[in-house]
Amino acid sequence: MKPKLIVVGAAGRMGKRILALALEDGLFDIVGAVERQDHPDIGKDTGIVAGTKTISVKLDTNYPAGADVVIDFSQPQAADNSIDYCTENGVALVLGTTGLSDQQRERIKTASEKIPIVYATNMSVGMNLLFTQVGKIAATLGEDYDIEIVEQHHRFKKDAPSGSALTLAENICKTTGRKFPESLDLGRSGKDALREKGKIGVHAVRAGDITGKHQIIFSTLGETVTFSHTAHTRDTFARGALRAALWLTDKKPALYSMTDVLGINNGK
Ligand code: NAD
Repeated sequence: MKPKLIVVGAAGRMGKRILALALEDGLFDIVGAVERQDHPDIGKDTGIVAGTKTISVKLDTNYPAGADVVIDFSQPQAADNSIDYCTENGVALVLGTTGLSDQQRERIKTASEKIPIVYATNMSVGMNLLFTQVGKIAATLGEDYDIEIVEQHHRFKKDAPSGSALTLAENICKTTGRKFPESLDLGRSGKDALREKGKIGVHAVRAGDITGKHQIIFSTLGETVTFSHTAHTRDTFARGALRAALWLTDKKPALYSMTDVLGINNGK
């Protein structure tokens, strides 16, 4: 039997692609599509909202009973509803929403004692490979290399810096003995803004319809090494989310990362 799937943030940029690809692949039985109360498409057929075919599941504000897995790409204030629904009903959760508070991250950890959860700020294969490598690279290059992270996203993105930029920075902090997030210099500015040794500069560009680009710059006197990841389409994240949802269906309660899903050796 196919896993029964609910998509939260269903009429958003990510939600629509997740629904469209789930319909194309046919690996899930879509049982619910959740949106905010005042969304203009509430009550419309979800397949049509996603730009594909009629599926007789209406865009709704409620989570229907009987799901196996929820994929949430919505807004931080909505993620709590998904955590509550999944915990109360023993449903697996794939959470891609970024900009969550420390309190929400704690809630995810607590919930993962009861249900399997994949929480990842970026669900692409390439970025997850970078997540596993940046810490090692930073530690190998050593403290004389200044580190700056520059991320670019579309003009509609609400949170800054991106969740992925923060994950990159956090992974560097872990291997280099820096404190996270205290070691970050977010969007340096001012008349006396000389680079502080040891800080990781993080800068957010918001322009046009850029899907997502991250650069990690390691620079010292005499050379610069730059690693870069560019997402060409949201489908790379949507496919990752669906892969995570399928992978989660037979997993025990725990908090998993995308590197677990993708089987990338993260050197732990
Ligand atoms: P979006 O604004 O297009 O979509 C978000 C949707 O959530 C909207 O349709 C909005 O109406 C809906 N929403 C708001 N409140 C809600 C509620 N209470 N209940 C249900 N739905 C609600 O944004 P997007 O570009 O689709 O991104 C969504 C989230 O996913 C953002 O946090 C973004 O940063 C994140 N994201 C993560 C990844 C990843 O790989 N983890 C990739 C891309 C985007």
